[in-house]
Amino acid sequence: MGSRLATDCPDCGSLEFYRAADTEVHLGTKVKYRCSDCDYGIVRIDGTVDTSTA
Ligand SMILES: [Zn+2]
Repeated sequence: MGSRLATDCPDCGSLEFYRAADTEVHLGTKVKYRCSDCDYGIVRIDGTVDTSTA
């Protein structure tokens, strides 16, 4: 797992995401990525993409 997210932003289509934060939760490691263009947030837990904007 690198610091980049291999997906495109559903909001603006950008491929540039940066790792904003990571938190240990009971399911594993929760990582929050943000689009560098529009600030859209994606939360990922151990490989599962959850498109929550929280
Ligand atoms: Zn975006």
